[in-house]
Formats: sequence, C-alpha cells, structure tokens
Amino acid sequence: MPRYIAPVKDTQFLLHEVLKISAADIPGYSDLDEAFTGAVLEEAAKLAGDVLAPLNMVGDREGCVMENGVVRTPTGFRAAFDALRAGGWTALDADPAYGGQGLPHLMHTAVNETFVSANMAFQMYQGLTHGAYSAIHVHGSAEQKATYLPKLVSCEWTGTMNLTEPHCGTDLGLMRTKAEPQADGSYRITGQKIFISAGEHDMADNIIHLVLAKAPGGGTGTKGISLFIVPKFLVNEDGSLGARNALSVGKIEEKMGIHGNSTCVMNYDGATGYLLGDLHKGMRAMFTMMNEARLGVGLQGYAVAEAAYQNALAYAKDRLQGRDVTGAKNPGEAADPLIVHPDIRRNLMEQKSFVEGARALTLWAASLIDRSHRMGDADAEGLVSLMIPVIKGFQTDKGFEMAVAAQQVYGGHGYIEEWGMSQFARDARIAMIYEGANGVQALDLVGRKLATDGGKHVMAFFDMVKAEVRAHDGDARMAGFAEPLKAASKQLQQAAMYFMQAGMKNPNAALAGSYDFMHLMGHVCLGLMWTRMAKAAYVALDGGAADRDWLEAKIATGRFYMARQLPACGMHLARIESGAEPVMALAAEAF
Ligand SMILES: Cc1cc2nc3c(=O)[nH]c(=O)nc-3n(C[C@H](O)[C@H](O)[C@H](O)COP(=O)(O)OP(=O)(O)OC[C@H]3O[C@@H](n4cnc5c(N)ncnc54)[C@H](O)[C@@H]3O)c2cc1C
Repeated sequence: MPRYIAPVKDTQFLLHEVLKISAADIPGYSDLDEAFTGAVLEEAAKLAGDVLAPLNMVGDREGCVMENGVVRTPTGFRAAFDALRAGGWTALDADPAYGGQGLPHLMHTAVNETFVSANMAFQMYQGLTHGAYSAIHVHGSAEQKATYLPKLVSCEWTGTMNLTEPHCGTDLGLMRTKAEPQADGSYRITGQKIFISAGEHDMADNIIHLVLAKAPGGGTGTKGISLFIVPKFLVNEDGSLGARNALSVGKIEEKMGIHGNSTCVMNYDGATGYLLGDLHKGMRAMFTMMNEARLGVGLQGYAVAEAAYQNALAYAKDRLQGRDVTGAKNPGEAADPLIVHPDIRRNLMEQKSFVEGARALTLWAASLIDRSHRMGDADAEGLVSLMIPVIKGFQTDKGFEMAVAAQQVYGGHGYIEEWGMSQFARDARIAMIYEGANGVQALDLVGRKLATDGGKHVMAFFDMVKAEVRAHDGDARMAGFAEPLKAASKQLQQAAMYFMQAGMKNPNAALAGSYDFMHLMGHVCLGLMWTRMAKAAYVALDGGAADRDWLEAKIATGRFYMARQLPACGMHLARIESGAEPVMALAAEAF
C-alpha cells in the first residue's frame, strides 16, 4: 500500500524562511509563529498519515454505492469524517462568529494540502462544504448565516455546488434549471444537475446544495442566473431538521478516479430553494468564491503528485535493477537500486522540483488572498486573480504528468492496481477538468485577466519578477537562478506583446496560443518561487543553520528546475508566435 508522510519541514521552510509570515503585516499573521504552525502541521500530519492515507486505496476499490436512493461511502470514511470534525479541522479559517477558529486562509491551505495528498476523494467532502460556507458567508442574509454556517463550519452538514447540466458545463448561459418564485418568498427549483461532487452520502445529517438556476425576468445567457440554497432536509425555525425536500439522486457516476467521492446526478423536482445573494446575480456570487475554489483545485494537482512522488522515491531506492554505469554502488548485491540511473534521477527531479515549486506558489497565493480579504488590498486581489488560472491550469496539468512520471518509476508494477500508483494518476486527472477545464483557464488568462484594469496586474507581475532579478545582481551564487528567470520573463513579456499586436487583428491568434501562455507563465511563476527559495536557503546556510544537507538539496533542486524546466518557455513562445494559422489551417470538414 502506498505511504504518505506530510512534508512538514518543507511547509515550515516556506512559511517562515520564504514568506516570513510572522513578520508580515497581514492581520492574524503575527500569531503564526514557528512553534504554532509546526504544532498544527504535525497534528494534521498524524491524521493524514494514520487515518486518511490508509483509506485512500479502500475508497478507490470500494467506491460509493447507491442502494434505494441511499449512498454509502467506503468503509472507514464515516469514522474518518468524525475524526476530522472532532479535531476541529473543518473550522480552521472559518469565522469565529459561527464556530470557526479564524485562522488565515494560508493555514487552511497548508493543512488542506496534507489531507488532499493523503486522500483526495475524502477531502473533497470538506472542500465542497468549505465552498458552500464561503458563498453563504459572503452573500447570505443574517438569518441564512445563522441557520447554515455553524453546521457547515462543523461539517455536521456538508455542502455542494450545482452548476453543470447535461447539455452545459462551460457555457452556463445554456442552463435550463428554473426557479419559480413562491408567495412565501421561497422558490421552486426544477431541473437536473449532473456530476455533482459529494451530492449524496452517509456522513452528514443534512446536505446544503447551492444550485444555480434561472428565475423569471433575468434575460438570456448567464445574466439571468441566480444562486439558491436548496437543503436536502428543510430546516425548521428552531434549527431542527424538517421535511425532506423534493430532490433526489438519479444515479452515481462510474468514473476514472476519485471513487471515494460520490459524483451524483441530482434531480430537483419542485424543490424548495432560498435565494442566496441578489436575484439574477448568481454568476457574480459564484465568482466571488472562484479564487479560493480554483486555488484549491490547483493544490490538488501538486498534492496528489507529492504522494505519488514519495512512493516513487521509496521504490527507486529499494528496487534493484541494472548497474550504475560509473561503477557498482551495491557490489554485494546482483544489481544497484534504480535511483543510481540518470534517467530515473531526471524523472524524480522533475517531480520533486515541480511539487516544491507549486507548493511555494500556492502558499504565496493563499497569502495574497489573506492580504486581499483581511486588508482590502485591491492590488493583492488583482495579482491573485491573474495568477489563479495559471495555478489551476498549469499545476493540475503538471500534477497529472508527475503522477504518471511516478507511475513510470515502477515500470510494469506501476500499471498494476495493487501498488496504488495508478490511482494517483487516475485521481489527479479530474483536477484538469472540473472547476473550469484547463483550456478554459487559459482562455480566462489570455482573454480576460491579462487586460484586467488596463493590464495593471500583469505589469505589476512583470515588475515583481524584474525586481527579484535585480535583487540578485552581482551575486554569483544566485546567477543560476536570476539569469534563467530574467530570460524566461522576457519571453513571457514578448508573448504578451504578441497577443496585444496580433490579437487585435485576429482574436484567434491570441486564443490559439493561450494554452502555451498559461504554461509559459506557470514556468515563470515557479522560476520566481525557486529563486526566492534558493535565496532563503542561502541566507539560512550563511546564518549557520544546522540542516545544511536539506538546504543544499533545496538549492540543487531549484537549479534543476531553472536548468531543465525553464527552457520550455522558449518552446511555448515559439508556438505562440506561430499564431493561429497552423492551428486553424484545416477546415472542420478536413479533419
Ligand atoms: C468527477 C467530476 C466531478 C465534478 N464535480 C462537479 C460539481 O461538484 N459541481 C458542478 O457543477 N460540476 C461538477 N463537475 C462538472 C465539471 O465542472 C464540468 O465537467 C466541466 O466544467 C466541463 O464542462 P463539460 O463537461 O460540460 O464540458 P464542455 O463545456 O462541453 O467542454 C468540453 C471541452 O471543450 C472545451 N471548451 C468549452 N468551451 C470552450 C471555448 N469557448 N473555447 C475553448 N474550449 C472550450 C473545454 O475546455 C473542454 O475541454 C464535475 C465533473 C466531474 C467529471
């Protein structure tokens, strides 16, 4: 069975040496000293390693089962969910007014990574609930907040997000689910939603569905869409559970991965719903939570890759196969371990350098979310909004690629279910699709985010990278970081300039290059993170830190990323500058 050990040391290094959180001016950060975050992360590591990870394969094998409309989660999930609740893990960054602990989103993100790595399908039940909590917290009336938030914070009740319908996922303007106003102020919700994660299960007393639907008078397209709270059981005035609402599960989907999470067809047959936020402003309400939700999915990309990497590394040290070409490392045995071979090293370094870079980027973005929420910092909000499609799209593409790379280390054994490596690849795959498929993330980045506020945020990002490069001028030790970062950043700017010029004449020229741009920017972001991490490691070494081997390994891993991964930026730029023609040359009939 695969193993998982939470990377507490690496997370602590990022929080305290790179992000320097306890000295940051963000409200709530001064409480996050090393001892505190270390204690939280160690406790989370125990739950992840001892309880959640052992259930990962169980969830994959048993899946969720529906009998007579009742969905059963895999063996052990209910007890594990109780443990999650009992430990207060569902309340970390929630509002204390509703039973939360009021910690920064950064801490939630760091802990969330650990739980996702251990068992992504399981952690999604909490993840969806956190999304519903955030929506009601931002858009709910005082009464709605009092009714739903305490139960969602404790996860006594769980939440879902219902957007997708059989004929529309990306293009929600085509939505058919309707909401009819009732005399008492509620709405009758009728329609079918598909692919609803955690739509039905046996781990909570009630499930609060957030449903997008069209109410009369809103016009066509996405403008007419509103957001509704549709509980599985209606809630009485005293907070007790009332009648069962007119909604049901049509079926649970058979799917490629995340078998432990129930993906449901939900039928709403005149169900009672309550408007959340403003009428006909449902899309806007959804968008306010988009940054957090997409950051969470981008995190899934590298969190699953982390678990896969840990196992690939252990296997590479254990499996004897072939000899080191420079001389036997294991002369007493018939062969050397896999890890002596340069191609296995390449593979492991690709995984390690991606995962550690993505962790840094994700935690930095979480700190920007805190800065925007806790300080009302519009620049931080703009910057993180720019970064989100990159984090979601690039990190989930690479996360899947790295899960497959980890599988490759096992050779044929990676393809055999017993080893668990195939599950990592299958689980990681969905993160590229849901919460806006990655092609759509690229469109969002190039079609919307680059131009937001007159390009102010992308210019701020370019300036930030330039400042980082300049900060290492004349520092020979940092040249292997600053120079490739400078070159890659120039390529990114050149690509943005190409879009401005060619895209004006032909929008397809920009859209044909959008996916490459997302990856180009992903590499620049990780290059920036590796430059910051290397600097922090040198500072720690210069200060006489005890863990020299670990810090030197950190620097070497960063060097690998800069030398072996950043050159991909040149390829992406060349593809972008080839424009729309090679992509659009064939008429649809000619395929
Ligand atoms: C396991 C699982 C769990 C899910 N959980 C949820 C959930 O909890 N709640 C929920 O509401 N939904 C959920 N979904 C649905 C998911 O979010 C959608 O499947 C996804 O958004 C894509 O929509 P679609 O499947 O209709 O694909 P389509 O919208 O038909 O898109 C098909 C392809 O075309 C591309 N595409 C579409 N439009 C454009 C365009 N204009 N330009 C370029 N490319 C385009 C897309 O990138 C995609 O690759 C889940 C799906 C799965 C499989």
